[in-house]
Amino acid sequence: MSLYYFDNAATTVLDEDVFNEMRPFMMINYGNPSSLYTLGKISKQAIEKSRSDIAKIINSKPSEIYFTSGGSESDNMAIKGIARAYKQKGNHIITSSIEHPAVLETCKDLEKEGFKITYLPVDQFGSINLKQLETSITPSTILISIMFANNEIGTIEPIESIGKIASKYNIPFHTDAVQAMGAIRIDVKELNISALSFSAHKFYGPKGVGALYISEDIDFQRLISGGHQEKEKRAGTENVAGIVGMSTALNKSYANLTDHNTSIKNLRDYFLSEITKKFPDIKINGSILKRLPGNANISFRNRDRKKILDKLDSVNICASAGSACSAGFLKQSHVLNAIGMPKDYSGNSLRITIGKYNTKEEVDFLIKTLAEIVPQC
Ligand SMILES: *Cc1c(COP(=O)(O)O)cnc(C)c1O
Repeated sequence: MSLYYFDNAATTVLDEDVFNEMRPFMMINYGNPSSLYTLGKISKQAIEKSRSDIAKIINSKPSEIYFTSGGSESDNMAIKGIARAYKQKGNHIITSSIEHPAVLETCKDLEKEGFKITYLPVDQFGSINLKQLETSITPSTILISIMFANNEIGTIEPIESIGKIASKYNIPFHTDAVQAMGAIRIDVKELNISALSFSAHKFYGPKGVGALYISEDIDFQRLISGGHQEKEKRAGTENVAGIVGMSTALNKSYANLTDHNTSIKNLRDYFLSEITKKFPDIKINGSILKRLPGNANISFRNRDRKKILDKLDSVNICASAGSACSAGFLKQSHVLNAIGMPKDYSGNSLRITIGKYNTKEEVDFLIKTLAEIVPQC
């Protein structure tokens, strides 16, 4: 039975070209980058080449890129690292109510250390309000952390305007760009971003590797102590193959960005228009215009999404009930709560996220399957 993978916001398959670049760094050039002999230097050079490739893509300096184990670690490192470094200056952090748990739970940890967090609400489309952001700023605000694009409903936040406000008040601005990286061009200088988190497995790279850009103008404390790696800001032997895979995947994503985004968006829009024809009373969650190209998040009226997902799984269709993290529990998503779901729609959302390998035939099968199963659920 073939597999129909429509959960590209949860993770993506590894691109074969990426794997081919990674393989030698596991099987042949496996030296520890800290070792002084040639085998070690080959690893070290590969890391530094990846660092400068990634820096070029986001318009930073290579020295402003720190490799991590993924998006969650990068979010923790940025938010805890900056908060603890600036705690003499103030204890107030502004974030949004629709962040990924990697940001929300990190903020909860910091509340226990005495930091005060403002969780900005969002409108019905999932956007924060810029006026509200600005009026929330106090003399003790030391960090603004707002995601670039939401993982559940695909809404792209007004990052350029947030950056302008942060820079006007001279407050560090971190953004969780895990969903945006590889899908949207990001220039950290132009957007006044002080810290940016991303993760390779969301753009056809390997799992367990990510990075954090932090501007050299911003101070931060490390999370992981140990060896001298990453300028003593993140200890641990580097994931050399993963880092090489991440930079290869990122280069490839941006080299083909326009083509991929056009075909992904066309498939997404085709799905939405066909599914609306079959089920005129569905609700499309999030913004239509300011939205990631591959994201479709819909709610069926008075249906049981657990049944829908089980039936989809039985024909090998992978889809999500919202986010991967809440899917296992199937509790009502904090994002859908924040955009104000009507009661007969709440708990019935389905997230379809299209990737570069999806085809029109696959989408047709998805639509046909949903048309059959939803009325039974
Ligand atoms: C996937 C995701 C994360 C977590 O990244 P990991 O690499 O899985 O730790 C954080 N934020 C957002 C928006 C995500 O989509």
